Amino acid sequence: MIKQSLLVLACFLSVSQAWWRNGHLMTARVAYDQLSKTHPHVLEKANQMLKGLSDYTTFERDYPFVECASWADEIKNQGLDLQSHWHFVDDPFFDEGYQKPDWYPEAYNVTWALKEFVKYLSKDPKPQNDPQIPVLFGEGFNLRLMIHYVGDIHQPLHSVSRFTQQFPDGDEGGNFFMLKEFDGITELHALWDSVVSAFSNDHDLPLNSTTWQFFGDNSLRIQQENPRESFDNLDRPIDQWHLEGYQIASDFAYKNIQQNEIPSQEYLQQGIKIAERQIAKGGYRLANLLVKMWDKNHTMTQQFEEKTFLQ
Ligand SMILES: [Zn+2]
Repeated sequence: MIKQSLLVLACFLSVSQAWWRNGHLMTARVAYDQLSKTHPHVLEKANQMLKGLSDYTTFERDYPFVECASWADEIKNQGLDLQSHWHFVDDPFFDEGYQKPDWYPEAYNVTWALKEFVKYLSKDPKPQNDPQIPVLFGEGFNLRLMIHYVGDIHQPLHSVSRFTQQFPDGDEGGNFFMLKEFDGITELHALWDSVVSAFSNDHDLPLNSTTWQFFGDNSLRIQQENPRESFDNLDRPIDQWHLEGYQIASDFAYKNIQQNEIPSQEYLQQGIKIAERQIAKGGYRLANLLVKMWDKNHTMTQQFEEKTFLQ
């Protein structure tokens, strides 16, 4: 227990970038809005679990479900870099005729991590009647990371590494694809982390009534522009989510954009639409996951559940 407490004490936070923070908070806000409307008891259970570790962050106050969405990035340099490789899966995109036959993606990646969190969080938490047991530390840790990683896997540049003659070991999701600086953005990965420059100024945490309203307004707009019914693949198994990001990256994100230049207006406009649609999809899927894990009335056969979650 002492060891665990020390580990947690190492989690004091500092500011860093993610999707940048706004993209993660928006994804969580979409899920929050969905759960508030349809499954408030599931949201309540999530908030209970987030009380585990809540004493060790200064970034969560009135809206922990949303405010915690960037925690996994913020602890990377605070003693918990063990999970730094769980934020992405570098599927190889061999471009410009380049091939690298002996390259293998990381096995412990965002897909693997999400499935592990679902397995862990699907079990009932330990009894809470013994004050000696830090009962919710594990739940608080895993749920915070899950909320974050559902956001990451819907950021298209988290599902790809582009291999070319210039980058024979891959460009790590566009991190080495340099752009002419604008809005503080200097490379392709950062461009997509900023929701293609639509949300390049991160808001401070914890949120106040003004910034809560900001995320609420944008979440509502994104949901109206991308309603649930407009997706036919929300129930895809977790294993397949990264394929969508890879497709967007290889078909669009790396195309019609030049290194060391500022992206065209057409690219930015189309990219923002694509990125916001991914945020909506991520939020709907996050809400779906929590409902499937915790809503006792959710009628689902074991076979369907395994197929949906963990293939
Ligand atoms: Zn991340």
